[in-house]
Amino acid sequence: MDLFSHVLWTRVFTRNKLWDDEALVFAMLPDLGFLFVMMYVLLGKPMHLDFQDAMATMPPFILVVYYSLHSFVTLGIVAIIVWKLKPKLLPALSAWALHICMDIPFHSDVFGTRFLYPLLPDFYFSGLSWGDYRVLAASYFMLLVVWYYLEMRELSRHRSIVRRTDWLDRIESFAGGLINPKPISVGHGAERDNQGASGQVSGENLCGPEESQNCGTGTLAPPKAG
Ligand SMILES: [Zn+2]
Repeated sequence: MDLFSHVLWTRVFTRNKLWDDEALVFAMLPDLGFLFVMMYVLLGKPMHLDFQDAMATMPPFILVVYYSLHSFVTLGIVAIIVWKLKPKLLPALSAWALHICMDIPFHSDVFGTRFLYPLLPDFYFSGLSWGDYRVLAASYFMLLVVWYYLEMRELSRHRSIVRRTDWLDRIESFAGGLINPKPISVGHGAERDNQGASGQVSGENLCGPEESQNCGTGTLAPPKAG
């Protein structure tokens, strides 16, 4: 998909999260590989070659970078490293996963999304091109629908006195539990002072007054990266 779509869809799914800025970086990161491709096409290829012929003369490492950044294998390795070094950044990696998922059906041929690269270096699905106006129209229409739904959801919550959990809360809670089954014990002194020993972030409590007794501290998004 185009970079703008990646950014907007990520914004939809990470709205109101403390790690939304980091998520935006991860949403754009995979297309850093495409930036290298464009730099070669614009600056590095012989003048007489068109775009298609330039692909054949392009240094192989550029496509290796492109494929690697669109691979769940790379994402998995990075996720393990992040989990060990900075677990509170882990939810932001979901934006990277979303980017790959969005690209799988809408890229083909040399830019086909090798989502299992390098384990299966030539495995990809050939779908519609993201440049097809029907794909772009459907994507932006869906974007508007989802955005509108979330806005209305938020508005109704502001208006209601008792906040009830809905299906989105349950998904978030489930995902949070997978990532962080136990409360993060924040090891950094300053953060502990600010947030308490549970690692829970103020302002991100998904439970209303009626659920507060059952609200596990380990099912919430980790604190914002410093
Ligand atoms: Zn991409």
